[in-house]
Amino acid sequence: MRIELPRTSERFGANVFYGPVQVYELDSGLRGQGGDEEGAIVALPYERLHEIQGQMAVVVPVRGERIRLIEGILFAIPNQCLVIVVSNSPREPVDRFRVEQQALYTFARLARKRVILVHQKDPLVAQAFLDAGYPDLVAEDGRVRDGKAEGMMIALALARLAGKRYVGFVDADNYSPGAAHEYICEYAAAFALTECQYAMARILWQSKPKYVDGQLYFAKWGRTSRVTNHFLNQLISRYTGFETDIMGTGNSGEHALTLELALRLDYATHYAVEPQHIVSLLERFGGERESPYPDVIREGVEIFQIESRNPHFHRAGEPDHIREMTRVALSTIHGSVLCPAALRREIEEELLAQGCLHDGDSVEPVRRYPPLLDMDFDTFHSTVERRLQATSVERVRLRWRGPSGSRRRHVSRTGPGEWPPGRDAEETQGPIN
Ligand code: GDP
Repeated sequence: MRIELPRTSERFGANVFYGPVQVYELDSGLRGQGGDEEGAIVALPYERLHEIQGQMAVVVPVRGERIRLIEGILFAIPNQCLVIVVSNSPREPVDRFRVEQQALYTFARLARKRVILVHQKDPLVAQAFLDAGYPDLVAEDGRVRDGKAEGMMIALALARLAGKRYVGFVDADNYSPGAAHEYICEYAAAFALTECQYAMARILWQSKPKYVDGQLYFAKWGRTSRVTNHFLNQLISRYTGFETDIMGTGNSGEHALTLELALRLDYATHYAVEPQHIVSLLERFGGERESPYPDVIREGVEIFQIESRNPHFHRAGEPDHIREMTRVALSTIHGSVLCPAALRREIEEELLAQGCLHDGDSVEPVRRYPPLLDMDFDTFHSTVERRLQATSVERVRLRWRGPSGSRRRHVSRTGPGEWPPGRDAEETQGPIN
């Protein structure tokens, strides 16, 4: 990949936020073929990206997405990556998870791919978090709470067990496998540009096409991302004293982290997770408050923003969904200990103007989860391995109970195993496709 080196940056304590960079060639060839420019643009050889992707888990959070969309994402993930799908799809009246299992099974067999599939509501997953001393994720009903962030955290724990160094997230509601493939290559490119073990890559979509006056319009910014970026930039500016527009990816679901960083950040529920990452970086490593991780302060954190070349075609959100995303995104900033009172008032006015709040309402704080780092991963492992049998990274096998609770199935990279797809599962696929 031929990619620009960051030209602008903003420092906030130990964090270095790099301005968005452009990609000039998605594939610049093998080592030695792409030229060896020095300066503004570098060619990252295919071998280097491949090597990084071999240490990367790609996580696909799913909740009731169409199978065709999920399949498209799976086809886009380079073979060298470990795939982790965390599904919170309904099991009734149609067992959508079962259909996902079938699609994944076929995919893993055909692509000879390493795949882990887990259901967010599997009681054993909740038990594993309880056993490991991390009860925060578990609701009163004894299951992991709903939410994309909660699914991502399950995946992080699994990526840690699989010994991965990087974890990248790709939403399943993406109509373009080519775009998803590009994002994963760009994650690897960011990690190739840094030696830092605490790093993050965030994708700035080239555009998000929509229909305006009957024509396709390649919009750059959505309403939520515009206001989230504005207030994140304001939060930074109020401390540095210089207005900045460095942050363009406040809501980027397409992002990747080194596992070392991912385990040291706190998480916010549902869709607040992406802006919360930035708030968490500022709070934990911004130098305004004592950091629980002095090693990170010493080494620093690097945040890359890469502008993709593919447009991002995804399932359009309903107005209520957009308002809810805006509300939770801004409440992460509003609820931060770093947020000055004047900025809080501006956020409240914005939420009122957007119809996300009504007169007299206060901004509800979003649920936050502490870092996973201090969890007892050995205990977590010994609980989940009753279900998940990873005999090696080469042969990752997932076992689960069928809907009746009696049958056992598995997905294996290495062969068809015990589960030829059943007729009933095929039949349910029709209406879900
Ligand atoms: P948006 O794309 O940011 O508007 O948000 P979406 O609602 O489309 O969700 C983004 C991704 O998260 C999609 O792949 C969803 O299927 C997935 N997702 C949404 N809610 C959950 C959940 O509760 N658990 C899991 N595991 N995934 C979820």
